[in-house]
Amino acid sequence: MTQCQLCEQQMDDDGYLCRGCVKATRVRLECLPDLYAGLLPFLAPPGGNGGGRGSKPVYAPLPVVEDILDLRGPGGLVGTAEQWLTVICRDRGHTVATPDGGGIEARLRAAVSGLLANMPWVAVSWPDAGEFAADIRELSRSVTSIIAPAPAVDRGRRIGHCPAIDPSGTLCGAVLRLLPGEKAVRCEWCDTRYPPYVWGQLKAWMTEDEKARHAA
Ligand SMILES: [Zn+2]
Ligand SMILES: [Zn+2]
Repeated sequence: MTQCQLCEQQMDDDGYLCRGCVKATRVRLECLPDLYAGLLPFLAPPGGNGGGRGSKPVYAPLPVVEDILDLRGPGGLVGTAEQWLTVICRDRGHTVATPDGGGIEARLRAAVSGLLANMPWVAVSWPDAGEFAADIRELSRSVTSIIAPAPAVDRGRRIGHCPAIDPSGTLCGAVLRLLPGEKAVRCEWCDTRYPPYVWGQLKAWMTEDEKARHAA
């Protein structure tokens, strides 16, 4: 029995990556050119798209444009893909095809198809397969987080710090939140419940604790 280097599950076959991780890595690789293209709209210069004089400047949304420039630049997506291809070719004893000019997009497509062609060998015979697959996963995550940020989870309204005191006399102090749809505040740390009828008292305790903190 061997273990997949990426998901660490036991696998029936020999090799370094399980079938699921091979498939996922292939999909991530195939998506890289589209991710690369998907970053472009985020680079629109502020107010640059023909709004005309006097119109309000339109700022590119988060995140920082530099991150996107890095990812789209020679060292970003294309650099990572080409570097891995170079290492794989070297380890297989193949000649490394030098990128023949062309735009970054063309180079990225070439590197991706080279990596895909090597995937069967990588999964079965390459001890660095796990590191490679993890790096590709990280790369696609960082681009995806820019293009389609995960929706913010509603963590509820922040109430204050938990005033519960454990038997040893230590103040809990964890952040209390009223979760959406909940009627009582429950401390996720010490599990103390604060139903609405004690909220007045809760507020008083918190103010006391707050004062104590400032005095300390
Ligand atoms: Zn796996
Ligand atoms: Zn607590």
